Amino acid sequence: MNRYDVIVAGLGAMGSATAAQCAMRGARVLGLERWLPGHGHGSSHGDSRIIREMYFEHPMYVPLVQRAYALWEELEEQTGTELLTITGGLMAGPADSEIVTGTLRSAREHGLPHEMLDARGINKRFPAFQPLDHIVGVVDPRAGYLDPEVGNAAHQSLARAHGAELHFDEGVLSWAPDGDGVKVTTARGTYHADQLCLSVGAYLAPLVSSLKLPLTVERQVLAWFEPDAGHARWNAPDCPIWCYDNAAGHMTYGFPRLARGVKMAVMHEGERHADGEAVREAPDDADLALTRERCGEFLPAIRSAPVREMAVCRFTNTPDLHFVLDHHPECEQVLIASPCSGHGYKFASAIGEVSAELLLDGGTAFDISPFALSRLSS
Ligand SMILES: Cc1cc2nc3c(=O)[nH]c(=O)nc-3n(C[C@H](O)[C@H](O)[C@H](O)COP(=O)(O)OP(=O)(O)OC[C@H]3O[C@@H](n4cnc5c(N)ncnc54)[C@H](O)[C@@H]3O)c2cc1C
Repeated sequence: MNRYDVIVAGLGAMGSATAAQCAMRGARVLGLERWLPGHGHGSSHGDSRIIREMYFEHPMYVPLVQRAYALWEELEEQTGTELLTITGGLMAGPADSEIVTGTLRSAREHGLPHEMLDARGINKRFPAFQPLDHIVGVVDPRAGYLDPEVGNAAHQSLARAHGAELHFDEGVLSWAPDGDGVKVTTARGTYHADQLCLSVGAYLAPLVSSLKLPLTVERQVLAWFEPDAGHARWNAPDCPIWCYDNAAGHMTYGFPRLARGVKMAVMHEGERHADGEAVREAPDDADLALTRERCGEFLPAIRSAPVREMAVCRFTNTPDLHFVLDHHPECEQVLIASPCSGHGYKFASAIGEVSAELLLDGGTAFDISPFALSRLSS
């Protein structure tokens, strides 16, 4: 019989990390992934993801991201890959914007060294940015970026090195409780395990339909530009990773120049759907125009810079934009570890560890109560 300790459904960011952490603890692990490695139908493609320590969304994320930093560094050593690049980060906006006030709150609550810049100071330090006079910025010295495709592959190779079986191009069609365990069906067979981790990202809804979770899958467009004819001001450290909030409901973010160009995006203004299947994967002229308009407020060169590439990715949002990391309320042996509201990649290494603790030890030292499913039904 195909019997495992843990089956992990979905080998993107959270699932690959969970498979690696469970296998490292000696569990017999099966990972099932619907598409081939490196595919572009989920949330983990596009060659860079911001990591930052002074978490503007809420100070509760700071201990988790600190653990994530340590685990990314460990993963680099374990697999001999380069995953994490520190560029420093600029969190900018009007003084009363969410990004500025939230970054300062996390920095102060956790005693993190930081630096404030006014608009002139921003432009002097980072000449690519041309902020309006009322803009200020907080410098997060530990911020930088991760490579998501390489990070997922590194977790997968670590999982395999510790005996995990990973099946690609084999999506989970259904699951059901099976005594104290669980039975999982794919097009190729039926597998049994003590525990199941559902980390299928934007494709969760049909696998937990009885819960009627209020999740939305948001279409998110990335654009890579080549501004200023390749001028060095767009290279790190002169250009750090950045987040910009104009306090009128618009947020943008971006990276220094990497191999494909200078990548940036508009946050949370995409089309919303009930499930990942409905997302249009082709970017269009309206996407490009919106990116130029929003990002051009902080980086005017982007209004006319040649665009090299665009891509569409998926956010899986909860109503409060925090995560879901909890057991299925109708089936204790199923863990739901995925909807990360567009800011989860940086945490994947730590979420993998916490998920393994929940699956194999039945608990974790981290306070994950803010990520409970019960909050979504109240
Ligand atoms: C454009 C964009 C930019 C982002 N920028 C940042 C950032 O800068 N910093 C940051 O921290 N986060 C960022 N995020 C968010 C982050 O990338 C996501 O939170 C994270 O990748 C989600 O990981 P996941 O494992 O939940 O989903 P995924 O990585 O998408 O993994 C889910 C996997 O499940 C598979 N799957 C689906 N259905 C099934 C099935 N039935 N059976 C088996 N497998 C299945 C999918 O194919 C997929 O591989 C960004 C996201 C996007 C889209």
